[in-house]
Order: sequence, then C-alpha cells, then structure tokens
Amino acid sequence: MLDTAKVAEIIRAIAARMEAEKDFLTQLDNEIGDGDHGINLARGFKSVVEKLPELEKGDIGALLKGTGMQLVSNVGGASGPLYGTAFMKAGNAVKGKNEIEATDFVAMMEAAIGGVKMRGKSTEGEKTMLDSLCPAYKALKTGIEGGDDLKTALHKAVEEAVKGVEYTKTIIAAKGRASYLGERSIGHQDPGATSSLYMLQEIEKCL
Ligand code: ADP
Ligand code: MG
Repeated sequence: MLDTAKVAEIIRAIAARMEAEKDFLTQLDNEIGDGDHGINLARGFKSVVEKLPELEKGDIGALLKGTGMQLVSNVGGASGPLYGTAFMKAGNAVKGKNEIEATDFVAMMEAAIGGVKMRGKSTEGEKTMLDSLCPAYKALKTGIEGGDDLKTALHKAVEEAVKGVEYTKTIIAAKGRASYLGERSIGHQDPGATSSLYMLQEIEKCL
C-alpha cells in the first residue's frame, strides 16, 4: 500500500535522478535528436518539486494530475506533453484515492501508456519511451496477476525495461526527431526509453 506522502517521495526521487542523469540523457539526444532531453526533464521535474508542497495536500490522483500539468507547461519538446499526459492519465486512474494498491499501480501504468500512445500517435517498436514502458507494464501486470507483491513485480518490470532500452539500439526510429535520421538512428539508444527506465528504477527503489 502506498499513501500520498510515499507517492510524493517517489516524485522527488525521480526529479533527483533526472537532474543526476541530465548530461547523459542530453548526450543520448545529441546523437539522434537535438540534445535537450536531459535538460527538458531536469527542468520539468524541478518545477514539479517546487510545486509539490501544494500538490501533496491533495489525494494521489490530484498529485499525479498536478505533476502532469506542471510537466506539460514546463517541458519543451515532445517529451513534455508525452510524460505530462502519462502522469495526468495515471492520476485519473486513481482519482480521489489516498492509498493505492498493486492493482491500482497496474491500472495507472496502463492509463499512462494509453496516454502516450494517444498523444504521440505511437506504438511499440518505434524507438521511443514506449519500448521500455510497454514491456515493463506487461511484466508488472503478469507479476501482480500471478500473486507477486508490488516490489517483486516492479523489479521484473525494471528488468524488462532494461531489455527494452537495449532493443532501441537495434531499431530504426519511426517517431520524433530521431525518425529524420532513418537507418542512421540504428546503434543509438533512445533517450526517452532511457528516462522511462530511470523513472521505473526510482519507483522500485522507493518501495
Ligand atoms: P524533442 O524530440 O522534441 O527534442 P525530447 O528530446 O525531450 O523532445 O524527447 C525525445 C524523446 O521523446 C524520444 O527519445 C522518444 O523516446 C520520445 N518521443 C518522441 N516522439 C514520441 C512519440 N510520438 N511517442 C512516444 N515517444 C516519443
Ligand atoms: Mg530533444
């Protein structure tokens, strides 16, 4: 069971990780994009942390929705609206709740991915954040349905996200700026898939 304070702690951990990985994520984006992914996310999550004292007064749904709205309005580039939508949709899935269970977590992740797919008109296999999020979600859902506790299932999800990031090195980008490179995008790891992995790792660490 996770309460609002725990979810706020996770968001702070994600923000700290984005700051710590800012240069690496930006370097990855330099190779196949415009070199702003780390800067975008560090700035966006910094603005979320500044707003957290206010946001964490609400329930978990409101907290996540507010996080998403902060990301949409403070992150430039594709990833702001995409991650923003993901957090807003996750919040919608747990509207009014002050405590969430493992099954809520599955519902939140399903909603978040649905939001990214809708907003990005994208799907798995296009060298995006979905290539770490989707396999992670499948492992999480399978684990929870099979009786794993959240930490165990999330550990499996993180393992799949790691493989997903590796997989992005082998495929051609079909969405976002990297798609302009066509075949030349092969061999490079997708920045968004990488930042998604970091978010999942921080959630696992906090549980
Ligand atoms: P921009 O590409 O506008 O500079 P960022 O550099 O912040 O934005 O984010 C790039 C990341 O966003 C990519 O690595 C990819 O994972 C993700 N991305 C881009 N377009 C899409 C899309 N249509 N659907 C899902 N993810 C996407
Ligand atoms: Mg970029």
